[in-house]
Amino acid sequence: MIKILVTDPVSDESIQMLQEIGEVVLKPGLSEKALCEEIRDCDVLVVRSSTKVTRNVINSGKKLKLIARTGVGLDNIDVKAAEERGIKVVNSPEASSASVAEFVLGLMLCWVRHIPEAHFSLREGRWEKTKFMGKELKGKTLGIIGVGRIGGEVAVRGIALGMRVLGYDIVERKEMEEKGVRYVDFPTLLRESDFVTLHVPLTPETKHMISKREIEMMKPTAVIINASRGKVVDERALIDALQQKRIAGACLDVFESEPPRESPLLKLDNVILTPHIGASTVEAQRNATIIIVQKIKEMLQR
Ligand code: NAD
Repeated sequence: MIKILVTDPVSDESIQMLQEIGEVVLKPGLSEKALCEEIRDCDVLVVRSSTKVTRNVINSGKKLKLIARTGVGLDNIDVKAAEERGIKVVNSPEASSASVAEFVLGLMLCWVRHIPEAHFSLREGRWEKTKFMGKELKGKTLGIIGVGRIGGEVAVRGIALGMRVLGYDIVERKEMEEKGVRYVDFPTLLRESDFVTLHVPLTPETKHMISKREIEMMKPTAVIINASRGKVVDERALIDALQQKRIAGACLDVFESEPPRESPLLKLDNVILTPHIGASTVEAQRNATIIIVQKIKEMLQR
């Protein structure tokens, strides 16, 4: 029987699914030293985003054959070190697309209808009907940077709400055009959008792809939404723009440094901030585990 070490918190359902294929050891929150000890006799390591799978950890896993990251991104895994030892690294990027897309819609709806402020205002005993006059999303322009798995799901939801959807991507998919996305160049998207939402991976090309120059091209009423990776937006430039009211606001689920302790963002009132929860749904976790279990089974059959 294979031994599967799980070092980030996962649902009971995920543990049960993994137990069907091996002995599962659940040890969240280990230090690097403790993880190096724990991994010695394990065949598979399952992590989410918190565990740092360093070269040291990988080299300590003498029997290690597979590292499985439930979710998107391999930023917390030294993939090169794993490859050098012939250890396969897999993830399940497709598992959370609907969850993140719905979350982005939620952020936009919260923004235009002031839902978070209205909730807290009422809880504090006020009844401020006029203060919370909102706007519709219908008829507004949604600019999607990176019309991939998540961006594509955001696009169809935006279209369903009657939004005009612009897309900017290095790959233009006919399928998305047929669904109603109009691909434009980057400056056009920035100039014309009421909401600019980012759904690109973090790469050398996308790092700080939204910075001072790009923000200056946006409408003063525009809102930036980032539920991709924090470093895609130059946070210092964004904070300056928000403080100077150069744009209307930002909805951020991701930050250059997480959690964003001491950040001026925490004191601004033209932001909606959430703690990287775009993919945090029961369904996304379940889908991710189903995909990972399948990949472990395929490895065992080889
Ligand atoms: P994806 O690979 O399916 O789509 C990314 C798209 O970006 C692709 O269409 C690609 O062509 C495009 N792209 C890449 N480089 C580009 C560039 N330089 N300029 C323009 N377009 C470019 O990825 P996905 O699964 O949709 O994930 C998108 C992002 O969402 C990733 O950054 C991922 O880490 C993040 N994410 C966040 C959460 C969360 O909890 N907030 C959860 C899941 C994924």
